[in-house]
Amino acid sequence: MGNNVSAILQSLPKMDDLLGGVKDELGSLLSIAVIKRLCQQVVSKKREELLAEMTAAGSPTILKSKEELREAIIGEVMFLATSLINPRLKRVINATGVVLHTNLGRSPLSARALCGVVASAMGYSNLEFSLEDGKRGLRYDNLRELICSITGAEDVVVVNNNAAAVMLILDTIAFGREVIVSRGELVEIGGGFRVPDVMKKSGALLKEVGTTNRTHIDDYARALTSSTGLLLKVHASNFKMVGFCNDTPLSELVALGREHRIPVAYDVGSGSLVDLSRYGIEGEPMLAEILASGVDVISISGDKLLGGPQAGIILGKREVIQTIAQNPLNRALRVDKLTLAALEGTLIDYLQDEEVVCQSIYPLRYISRTPAFLKKEARILTKTIKKSCGNKFSLEELAGKSFAGGGALPGYELDSILVALENATLTAEQIATKLRMAEVPVIVRVANDKVLFDLRTLEQDDYAEIALALCELL
Ligand SMILES: *Cc1c(COP(=O)(O)O)cnc(C)c1O
Repeated sequence: MGNNVSAILQSLPKMDDLLGGVKDELGSLLSIAVIKRLCQQVVSKKREELLAEMTAAGSPTILKSKEELREAIIGEVMFLATSLINPRLKRVINATGVVLHTNLGRSPLSARALCGVVASAMGYSNLEFSLEDGKRGLRYDNLRELICSITGAEDVVVVNNNAAAVMLILDTIAFGREVIVSRGELVEIGGGFRVPDVMKKSGALLKEVGTTNRTHIDDYARALTSSTGLLLKVHASNFKMVGFCNDTPLSELVALGREHRIPVAYDVGSGSLVDLSRYGIEGEPMLAEILASGVDVISISGDKLLGGPQAGIILGKREVIQTIAQNPLNRALRVDKLTLAALEGTLIDYLQDEEVVCQSIYPLRYISRTPAFLKKEARILTKTIKKSCGNKFSLEELAGKSFAGGGALPGYELDSILVALENATLTAEQIATKLRMAEVPVIVRVANDKVLFDLRTLEQDDYAEIALALCELL
């Protein structure tokens, strides 16, 4: 047996030989050090396999030829090398019809935002540098004028996401003090954002008022004490209350706050700069209107309906925003130049005519698509798939629903047109799995054993890639 072991070990290729072989195939894509690590990994796995095989067989196993073994090892190293080099965070095609899908990265960036990101990342930037006097500038100086002219706010701070924004607002204004919130607004907003938990973490003390379905301004007024630090309103964008319910208007809270010199904050969540009611989205707060109400501070997500990068945007009165900016916690939550560049590009887009904005800003582009438009697109997708794949799939057009968001996002439903696809041998789930594994992954919905492509969140350029992925999966 000892002889066999040493025969096996000798049949394994020498490291130098392997390195040369892999290097010939990979060129300069990976350093020698990385290639060496991969080779060692594969060789030691092979060695174990061979030894285990021999122990199990209890007698000499048929040894592969040295050359075969070398080829097999190089093949495995090449496989590992290729998967190391290929990015694992990929562009995917979103055929789910969920416009703001948190798991798929929420909003794509507009072309202008994208250019801003590339330009600011390619070299150095004036992130915190005043080009006028050559002195240190402030991180949000470049954004202030733009966002304030669009929203009517006096000042702005940007942090990593809206959860961080709410935390920072509470920590700054209400640390160790009571925050009055309606019971109907103590919501959980997907992804683990629960208003009471955020409040606890921030060191503010929650004081619930009203009932689950009805809260009046008198409820807030009765709860005021000398330790009240803030009146907080939360927009429960992901669920709707119907029937016997009452939500205290922001204007009444602002009036109460003013009377008692207590600041008022509104966690808007998404909000919008464009009136979306004509596209079937009712009740999403209009940011300019909210800020005009006199509220002290509001917070929104950058990557919900605004259509920008992930960010928490804090807007409001200058004095409050300045205090928030000086909180040491702000230093821990601050955003980088990529986010600011993307946000600036997104906001510049909003200076255009509304029709143009509803083309360039992706969530608006998709939400504003009409069933008539989607029907036309469904024909083109169907034709593209037929042209590439012949009659391998049966296809039909269906009326269905798409969703503005899910979980943490505005839960509005929109009428849509879907292309439903079936195959004689594969189940819909099997097709969906294979589509996810495609070169450009395609993410679909499945219902009634049909694969559904929702035209709302697709671009014409996606159709050929979908067709290609479908042809290849058979
Ligand atoms: C989405 C949302 C949040 C969390 O925002 P993120 O940007 O996901 O951190 C907080 N509050 C409300 C009301 C929201 O809608």
